[in-house]
Amino acid sequence: MAGTRGEKVTMQEHMAINVSPGPIRPIRQISDYFPHFYPFAPALLRPRPAPLPALPSGPAPETCLEEEQDGDSDETTALGSLEFTLLLDQQNSVLHCTIHRAKGLKPLDSGSIDTFVKANLLPGMSKASQLRTRTVRGSRGPHWDETLTYHGFTCQDAGRKTLRLCVCEESRLRRRAEPLGELRVPLKKLVPNLSRSFNICLEKRRLTKRPSSLDTARGMSLYEEEEVEVAGEERGRILLSLCYSSQRGGLLVGVLRCAHLAAMDANGYSDPFVRIFLRPNVGKKSKYKTTVRKKTLNPEFNEEFFYAGQREELAQKTLLVSVWDYDLGTADDFIGGLQLSINSTGEKLRHWRECLARSDRRLELWHPLDGAPPQLGD
Ligand code: CA
Repeated sequence: MAGTRGEKVTMQEHMAINVSPGPIRPIRQISDYFPHFYPFAPALLRPRPAPLPALPSGPAPETCLEEEQDGDSDETTALGSLEFTLLLDQQNSVLHCTIHRAKGLKPLDSGSIDTFVKANLLPGMSKASQLRTRTVRGSRGPHWDETLTYHGFTCQDAGRKTLRLCVCEESRLRRRAEPLGELRVPLKKLVPNLSRSFNICLEKRRLTKRPSSLDTARGMSLYEEEEVEVAGEERGRILLSLCYSSQRGGLLVGVLRCAHLAAMDANGYSDPFVRIFLRPNVGKKSKYKTTVRKKTLNPEFNEEFFYAGQREELAQKTLLVSVWDYDLGTADDFIGGLQLSINSTGEKLRHWRECLARSDRRLELWHPLDGAPPQLGD
């Protein structure tokens, strides 16, 4: 346009070309830059197929719950869908949950959408089993391709637990991430050691009423808006290894990790560490503790401790294991514990007996924690 009159374009002409002939455009307002406070922006920028199916509080339509769907279901689902694969590794007591991608996500605001996936095992304290993917920025069809791993997950857990996956949107304007939609998979569907892929439509977030007995528990009700489902035996569990070393002449006790520990702090987490004590104490070093792991309910320790002594003599003793929440300035809180001895039962007895009946045989086993604080005999 400027070329018709040679190289020179005056300021006046330039403005005339740009302003006069075109349609009158709305002047951008300051609220355009803050879409959260501008309710019309999403409708303008994101025409939806009308009418949008209402999703009050019930489950999504039956057709949405198909697994291994083919084709693109973006326009038929209200909140989008999530593809993931589950694998229960029975031998190692591990549940792998690989989050592949989501499709057709509907952002809460206009503009770019930054999302991550949060996983929980229900029932249980929601933070005890909370894992999350990284955040993928700027996509309504994000690819995470990330595996979330639950350690200490057994076939018995699979029989009674449900996996909840929630796609959340991060926003710079809100402090909290907002859920865009969730889904739940009863894990009893899983066949051990066989990976299974899912493609499931997201549903609206379901909030479960918190048992009123938990309302006063250490300010949790003030802090945590999410559901805290029936606690049951949820003090957590611990992975221990035992081995009598003939070379060193003593018992090696490995404190490897804990899983799904109870939350003791108001932030919904604990600062766990583990104490072990071999009783009765006959002059040798009998008490040890691990380092503290800050703000986690699934700590990994991988620390090993040594008790010198004859195998037959050690076999008559009792190993007390207790998990604590470190608190600065006040007494540490007891989370849970267990005892291993020839008077134990079940897996605890098996663990103790197998490792002290023979030398140089290392065995790792998960044990549930119970609620009776051990008598440490201080
Ligand atoms: Ca603490």
